[in-house]
Amino acid sequence: MQILHPFAGSIQRYFDDIADPDRYRPDHCPQCEAKRPLTCHGFYRRTLVDAAFDGVIRVRRYLCCSCKRTVSLLPEFVLPWIRFSISVIAMFLAARLLNGFTFVAAARAAAQAVMPYQRGQFWIRRFQKQAPTLSLALVPLEAPGHPWDPAADFVSRALRMLESIGWIAAHRFLFSQLRVHLLGWPACLAPAGRRITLTAACPAP
Ligand SMILES: [Zn+2]
Repeated sequence: MQILHPFAGSIQRYFDDIADPDRYRPDHCPQCEAKRPLTCHGFYRRTLVDAAFDGVIRVRRYLCCSCKRTVSLLPEFVLPWIRFSISVIAMFLAARLLNGFTFVAAARAAAQAVMPYQRGQFWIRRFQKQAPTLSLALVPLEAPGHPWDPAADFVSRALRMLESIGWIAAHRFLFSQLRVHLLGWPACLAPAGRRITLTAACPAP
């Protein structure tokens, strides 16, 4: 199971932070609710592309001695199963769908000088599909009296909410409280990001 590393600083700060296993060690198991601190269980590695980073990061894992299941602490700036950081995806989607940039200009706005068309379209398609869910799920985070245009379509409404709340703050709420993914879970991890059976890994887009 993945839970969020309670930290939203820079990638470099994240590297420094995870060196200490005790710093964010969960004091109970989020799966079986055993009230015992979890045991360190190494790291897994995943790729990440951010505006100024393209490489591999380590994600700390803990083991629950009661239920024998692992918990990993995913940093808040990444999404499960997506290789690109939330901020890169956010900058691209806002530029393309909210501000009407061309595809190429939106990719540049997201610090992606070379962006394959399929990748951008993949994010757009998934976001369009997820927008109605996001628009409803983010209502509790709306600023009081925020004048959302009730006639606005789901995509622009969801984008405006995310821009106003902050994409990472919104992701923290969606993922931690509702297990909702900003771009929707892939079929193999649906409905809540957990593999039902141990089948082949999902390809990372
Ligand atoms: Zn447990």
